[in-house]
Amino acid sequence: MSYIDAHCHLGSRQFDDDRNEMINRMLKKRVLKAIVICCSKHDLEEGILLTNQYSGFKLACGIHPQSIDPDDTPERFERFRQIVDEYKPDMIGEIGLDYYSHPHTKEKQKEFFMQQLQLAAEYDLPVDIHCRKASADTLEILKKYPVRGIIHSYSGSVEMAAIYTKLGYSISFGASVLFPNAKRPAEVIRSIPLDRLLIETDAPYQSPVKDHRHEPEDVINIYKAISQIKSIPMEELETLVENNFDCVFNHKQ
Ligand SMILES: [Zn+2]
Repeated sequence: MSYIDAHCHLGSRQFDDDRNEMINRMLKKRVLKAIVICCSKHDLEEGILLTNQYSGFKLACGIHPQSIDPDDTPERFERFRQIVDEYKPDMIGEIGLDYYSHPHTKEKQKEFFMQQLQLAAEYDLPVDIHCRKASADTLEILKKYPVRGIIHSYSGSVEMAAIYTKLGYSISFGASVLFPNAKRPAEVIRSIPLDRLLIETDAPYQSPVKDHRHEPEDVINIYKAISQIKSIPMEELETLVENNFDCVFNHKQ
C-alpha cells in the first residue's frame, strides 16, 4: 500500500537544490506513486530522469494555459507533438483554461487545449485538466473529445463535479480542504463517488502554509482531512485512492 500524489511538479526549479532529499522524504513516508507534471523544458528534463528511476512515478507533459502567449504560432503545438512522440509520456497535462490569471489569451488557450485533447485521443493517453474561472468552456470542450483523466485541484461546485464524473473523469483535491472554513470542498468531497477520488499537493505550489514550499510528503495531511470528511479509515482511503490512480493509467479505451 502506498500514498499517491496525483499532481506535483517534482522537476520544478524550486527543488533543484535538494531534489533527492525531497524524494527520499516522500518515499520514507510511503508516498510511492506520483504524477510528475512537466510544463517547461527544465521540468521535463528532470521529470524524465525521475520517472525512469522510480517506477511509481508517471510522466505528464503539457502546454500549460498560463504559459500561452498571444503571439504563439502553430509551431509551438508541433514542437509539443514531437516531444510526445519522442518521450512517450504517460499522460498529457496539465492542460486547460485559466481565465482568472490570463483572461487576455482566452482564444489561444482554447486552441491549444483542443489540439492537446485531440493528441491525447490519438495516443490514447489520459489528460490532467487545469480549470480556473472557465468551467463552462472547459466542460463544453471536454465533451467533444473521447478522452478521460483527472480534473486537478478541483474547486468547483457539486453539480459540475457530478457532470465530470459522468463524463469519466476523476476529481483530484488539494490543500484547500485543510482550511477550517473549507465548507464547499467538504461538500463536494462528500458527493464524489469513491472510485473517482484522487488526492494531490501541486507541490511546490499551493502550500496551506504561507511562504512554505509544498512537498509531496504533505499529501498525507490532505488524506487525513479527506478521511474525516468521507468518514473512512485512513487504510481504506489509501487503498482506494491508489486503485483509482492505477485505473487512470491502466484503463485503455
Ligand atoms: Zn500544477
